[in-house]
Amino acid sequence: MTVTKRKTREKKSDTKVSKQAVKSEAVSNDHQDCDPCDSLDATFKRQLQGVLSRDENATNDMYGALASAVKANLLQQWRETRLKDNQYQQKQVAYLSLEFLMGRTLGNALLSLDLTTETHEALNSYAVDLETLQEAELDAGLGNGGLGRLAACFLDSCASLDLAVVGYGIRYEYGMFKQKVVDGYQIEQPDRWLREGNPWEVRLANHTITVPFFGHTESYVDLQGHRHYVWIDTQDVNAVPHDMPVPGYKNGRINTLRLWKAEATDDFDLAEFNDGDYTEAVARKNMAEQITMVLYPNDASENGKELRLRQQYFLSSASLQDILLRYVAVHGSDFSRFSELNAMQLNDTHPSISVPELMRLLMDSYGLDWDQAWEITSSSVAYTNHTLLPEALERWPVRMLKHMLPRILDIIYEINARYLEDVAHHWPGDNDKLAAMSVIEEGHEPHVRMAYLAIVASFSVNGVAGLHTQLLKSGLFNDFYQLWPHKFNNKTNGVTPRRWLAHCNPRLAQLITRRLGDSWVTDLTQLTALNAFTDDKAFLKQWQSVKFDNKVDLAKLVAAECEVEFDPKMMFDVQVKRIHEYKRQLLNILHVIHLYQRIVAGDTQGMQPRCVLIGGKAAPGYAMAKQIIKLANNVAHMVNSDPVVTPYLRFAFLPNYNVSAMEKICPATDLSEQISTAGKEASGTGNMKFMMNGALTIGTLDGANVEMLEEVGDDNFFLFGLNADEVSQLKSHYNPHQYIQQSPALKHVLEMLKSGHFNLVEPGIFDSIIAAIEDPYDQWMIAADFDAYRVAQENVAAAYANQEHWTQMSIRNTASSGRFSSDNTISAYRDDIWFAK
Ligand SMILES: *Cc1c(COP(=O)(O)O)cnc(C)c1O
Repeated sequence: MTVTKRKTREKKSDTKVSKQAVKSEAVSNDHQDCDPCDSLDATFKRQLQGVLSRDENATNDMYGALASAVKANLLQQWRETRLKDNQYQQKQVAYLSLEFLMGRTLGNALLSLDLTTETHEALNSYAVDLETLQEAELDAGLGNGGLGRLAACFLDSCASLDLAVVGYGIRYEYGMFKQKVVDGYQIEQPDRWLREGNPWEVRLANHTITVPFFGHTESYVDLQGHRHYVWIDTQDVNAVPHDMPVPGYKNGRINTLRLWKAEATDDFDLAEFNDGDYTEAVARKNMAEQITMVLYPNDASENGKELRLRQQYFLSSASLQDILLRYVAVHGSDFSRFSELNAMQLNDTHPSISVPELMRLLMDSYGLDWDQAWEITSSSVAYTNHTLLPEALERWPVRMLKHMLPRILDIIYEINARYLEDVAHHWPGDNDKLAAMSVIEEGHEPHVRMAYLAIVASFSVNGVAGLHTQLLKSGLFNDFYQLWPHKFNNKTNGVTPRRWLAHCNPRLAQLITRRLGDSWVTDLTQLTALNAFTDDKAFLKQWQSVKFDNKVDLAKLVAAECEVEFDPKMMFDVQVKRIHEYKRQLLNILHVIHLYQRIVAGDTQGMQPRCVLIGGKAAPGYAMAKQIIKLANNVAHMVNSDPVVTPYLRFAFLPNYNVSAMEKICPATDLSEQISTAGKEASGTGNMKFMMNGALTIGTLDGANVEMLEEVGDDNFFLFGLNADEVSQLKSHYNPHQYIQQSPALKHVLEMLKSGHFNLVEPGIFDSIIAAIEDPYDQWMIAADFDAYRVAQENVAAAYANQEHWTQMSIRNTASSGRFSSDNTISAYRDDIWFAK
């Protein structure tokens, strides 16, 4: 009990300090490492002088100096934004996400702050160009793929739309692993992105928050007869905020991405420990700091990893405590306006433990009763679903929660009990319904269904593309849709046109600006005006030459990384995204083999020379995905080493696909591969980046492809394959052999695969891939779509043969991409979910 008392006292004083800290934030600034009044030029020169005298021409130091100078330049605006938001005059939105795939900061910051020209000038006196310095920045790769990159695009749009939105995430010491390819196999290496320090972040130790773990709960009844709960004997971990600036586009707003770092409480409190406990104290310190050590690469089945649950709770608790402290600093303990002034958007179920945590904080720390706390929670939390794959839905063992977060489990049980009364009321006497919809999945090892918890507590549940939302309502979450139809809504994803056009494709951006002015950067629908120039011969030539120059640049990257020579006169046919069976990189590879066979057989009729590029990481535990990478590399080797083949076909696997790579890839792509099995890709966002940059899409009716097709029209899109309904119809009686028999091309491809042609020295390594294609339970239906894909690719080749027409289609794709600006998406979140101004 003595331990408990000490902890209780400590917590109280912690809260006091934090409140003061929040108040003092309103008058002073913690970000004081540079004088913000200097012009970029002066600060930059002073800092450069400092480093140059130490080590001439060290690009890394030059980059560090420039980044620090740019940060110094934005501190003033950053502080002003915070002062304004701390007055709480408008709704505050917290975007909670375990992933933020930010990429590099420098180039985007210069663009948003309108400092690009000034920086070029400042660098004039040094023998280094801006491009080189930008390349020195390591990607902030704090995400796996689409979900994390969406969070980053959203932050950019929120700031550019002048919304008071804070991103809350984790400052992983190691981000997404670095992918090497050795002998065709993926090798993972740790991503030590912080090794040279991070010039953009600001550590705010005085805003540290304490997060409890383990321990147990007790209850007591107060003098008024109310029962209260206390969570005691906890092992606490400090959450130290590290803030990253998120500049709006030329609008003076600098929002914040607050990343939490886990640190041990009482560093080495030797007084507490006798000799025996000392090592345990050190071990505990390590355990605490492990929480934010590494990003989980989303494996095929990642359920049940205890450290992952700790990360989720750590993020949720620290962020919610932070939000409540800021609210209380202005409004005191009057929570009547909380949900009017706050919304929390959950990026997938990863932060959904926030639901019981907010209940706990409101009740146990701020003294509200259950009904008050539930009213607030259920009117301020909103949930975005990102996947239709049932195996990807998060579930946590009750046993694990009971041990790690006992108070949280109590609250989850109570939420479930009360909610199941609503279910029983809606479906009287239907016990199967109760079991099917319960937040607790019963069984030998009971689990908490995190998606259900999120739906029950949220006032808004959204899917990320029209088709995806439809499928959520009719399938995965149909029961919930029947109970609460008003909660469900669609918000089709988008990507930021700042990074994904203005910054990454300056040649095209300039061409567009010369014709339309530059206001498309914040209003992408203006690009429709490009349709007026599709018969302008000079414009077509300029458009072509922009694409050609971008292809020259990408070819250099491919030569350096893959030792494959891409010819910019050939078609660039690209599929970059995480490697997953549902995304069907395998279908693409089979098509490459088919082209290879045709060329070797002398059948090049109607063929257009093409360079095929595949890139993407496989989760380290996903064996099939890793086999697919190996197959791509082996096929590439055969293709590229045959001089009969290379005039028509070249094939490369680009290692370590990340945001910075995509910034070079999408401006240089002619054909974008979006070929997932219909009904499996929730939205996709890579598809949008390519479209914006004038690539044509070959794709299925899946995710946001459906809406892209709607915008651009089927004359400018290569559609093929089964639709989502047909896929689900076919499932029960799928017979791949029937498709293989009907397709001589596929049969021929499989024969060559089986012959070991691509793995002469490693017999048998592709057996599992062959078996998957021939398996009647192949969910991805590779065989069923092969022929349709092959024919669509023939149509692509025919279209590419007419360069003028192809260029017109390319322009129409860019012109029709306005709807897929994340500004558009965020405006809809603002108006329909957040009700923010
Ligand atoms: C856009 C992007 C993604 C998402 O690509 P999809 O094709 O939508 O899966 C993944 N990784 C990176 C680095 C990206 O930039």
